[in-house]
Amino acid sequence: GNQAAAGYLAGLNPEQQAAVETLDGPVLVLAGAGTGKTRVLTTRIAHILNQRRAFPSEILAVTFTNKAAREMKERIAHLVGEAVEGMPWLGTFHATGVKILRRHAELVGLKPGFTILDTDDQNRLLKQLIQAEDIDEKRWPARVLASAIDGWKNRALTPDKVPAGEGAAYANGMGLKLYADYQARLKVLNAVDFGDLLLETIRLFRENPGVLAEYQRKFKFILVDEYQDTNVAQYLWLRLLAQRQEGRPQNICCVGDDDQSIYGWRGAEVDNILRFDKDFPGATVIRLERNYRSTGHILAAAAHLIAHNEGRLGKTLFTDGEDGAKPTLTSVWDSEEEARSIGEELEQLQRQGHLLNEAAILVRASFQMREFEDRFITIGLPYRVIGGPRFYERLEIRDALAYLRCVAQTSDDLAFERIVNTPKRGLGDATLQQLHDHARAQGVPLMQAARVLTETEEMKPKARRALKDLIDSFDRWAGQIEAMPHAELAQLVLDESGYTEMWQKDKTAEGAGRLENLKELVRSMEEFENLAGFLEHIALVTEARGEGETEDAVSIMTLHSAKGLEFETVFLPGWEEGLFPHQRSLDENGRAGLEEERRLAYVGITRARRRAKIYFAGNRRIHGLWQSTVPSRFVNDLPPDHVEISEGLGTSGYGGMGRGGFGQSRFDKVESFSSTYATPGWQRAQAQKSLNDAQARFTGRTGSQAFGSTYAEGRGGFQGR
Ligand code: ATP
Ligand code: MG
Repeated sequence: GNQAAAGYLAGLNPEQQAAVETLDGPVLVLAGAGTGKTRVLTTRIAHILNQRRAFPSEILAVTFTNKAAREMKERIAHLVGEAVEGMPWLGTFHATGVKILRRHAELVGLKPGFTILDTDDQNRLLKQLIQAEDIDEKRWPARVLASAIDGWKNRALTPDKVPAGEGAAYANGMGLKLYADYQARLKVLNAVDFGDLLLETIRLFRENPGVLAEYQRKFKFILVDEYQDTNVAQYLWLRLLAQRQEGRPQNICCVGDDDQSIYGWRGAEVDNILRFDKDFPGATVIRLERNYRSTGHILAAAAHLIAHNEGRLGKTLFTDGEDGAKPTLTSVWDSEEEARSIGEELEQLQRQGHLLNEAAILVRASFQMREFEDRFITIGLPYRVIGGPRFYERLEIRDALAYLRCVAQTSDDLAFERIVNTPKRGLGDATLQQLHDHARAQGVPLMQAARVLTETEEMKPKARRALKDLIDSFDRWAGQIEAMPHAELAQLVLDESGYTEMWQKDKTAEGAGRLENLKELVRSMEEFENLAGFLEHIALVTEARGEGETEDAVSIMTLHSAKGLEFETVFLPGWEEGLFPHQRSLDENGRAGLEEERRLAYVGITRARRRAKIYFAGNRRIHGLWQSTVPSRFVNDLPPDHVEISEGLGTSGYGGMGRGGFGQSRFDKVESFSSTYATPGWQRAQAQKSLNDAQARFTGRTGSQAFGSTYAEGRGGFQGR
């Protein structure tokens, strides 16, 4: 071993160190949030490399997200210095699956260049199959079938394995046949969906023992983060790779936390982690109890909350850090005020010298994001949405937008360049170079350069004609801006430019999908007054999204995608019954659903290092309808001694839960007053009442209530380090 470089072990506590150094045989680290599980994995990889036990290419490490994989790579590089030549097999299950599959595509009847369908493509393909069977798509939507198929795939069930009777619910028993049709169709298209990336790899391994053996030999060490959220397919995939071989221990190390299992709805089986030592006999099970992430009050609040769940192992968590600030609980009038209030808190943090990068807003449902985006655009607060819908970033949408930008603004070179030869007009690189040279020499936009050059003999006749046509078209379209409704004009531009036709000629599901997206784009334009207004909106939306990672910006994401991450400050808006816990989880899964929602709340709070800020609104517009709401039952699960009832920064006329009614000093903010005033009085009264009730329940709780066997309070405090 290399003693000098082993400094990375020094900072670890004894249990962490054991988890890092037990390289031979199966290891399970089962521990609560923020105890350093991910850090153990990273350090373990550094240790394996440092001990020369394997080359980087011989380590398979699975993370839950691509982002987590990137971060882990960086941290490993940091730990071991320049020595590592990347880690080719560090990634998500899917990323790893696709890599293996590409290498052996032929063995499962695919060609190496196979396409990976996204959800939209998948839905479109299913729609075609449903229509081919004369099934009423309105009654039996494709996405229902898609979700059934995903469910089967998560459970590693190919059409021949689906238990009799399952799928009977869809279209009078057609579900299973459609699943089989779908798989057959995928093969014809040389395509796979996400689920197949694992299922086909499993099939590859099962049908080709030689290939499997090759990978088993190759991967000397396997490491898995967030093991509590693996589904059956992932589990089988791992089991195959980690099979015991002659004379070699199974060097598999999984880390996870049963309290953070939040993907049950997507087929994750928390049992996988609970039966680890049965799957891998002789496993070393290590528990970590010290939380390094959060301050005392935050940890206490989280531990107390999760103690309300019944189905859990239960574990001790303590911190040697400070108690810090108590998590705050703020009531607001509605989601608009929530966004305004959080915006102001963020600005205040900024004024105090904190980075926006160190703050996150974690929502239960993605529709909640819109309000924050709108508000932050209005006040110019940089933000990024993580894992949001990417409609405006799709290829065909960007192309279409480029056309529209050129119509509105002939000097938009970036847009012009994007579409000048899309669809193909026979304008090769040489022509484009000519345009660029002229534009640069004369200091004019590309379109102007084209205008001039097409009047000269410098250009080849064919290119000249094509370019002249395009310019004439743009002139014609621009001339219509005033005369024609802008959505109609957009359709005209797409049709006359040949862009629509380009995708019509593409007979794949993908082509059809792109045409649908283009239609949706044109439809969405109707919401705006004119073309300029629409383009401005797009610019704002895409700029806010597209800004590089370097900009200091607050992150907005769902609770689900926040798993494994940490921030100084975490905002948790929308703690209202029906939204969080989400009604659908309660309806569909009852008690189990509720417990999964509570684990999500636990995940949310434990993302915070120093500040956790919970919000609930008295009114919320759901699917366009105003509804008065009741605070989440999770508010009641919090320990009063460790939570502070806050009034926020108080833009609100409505005031905090502790005050009730209007805060006098706040009427100077006309904007907030009018929004409050505009809401019907009876709704306001009702919301006030429900908040008061909640407050009574909340503060009426005895502080002496058991703190929860899960939190060893005595060991907290200010021992410092
Ligand atoms: P989660 O369950 O949320 O995924 P985790 O158990 O993976 O959490 P980590 O993210 O690995 O926890 O660690 C939480 C924080 O504590 C990180 O900032 C990490 O750097 C820090 N940390 C972990 N172990 C130590 C240690 N021994 N000394 C100092 N800091 C540590
Ligand atoms: Mg982690």
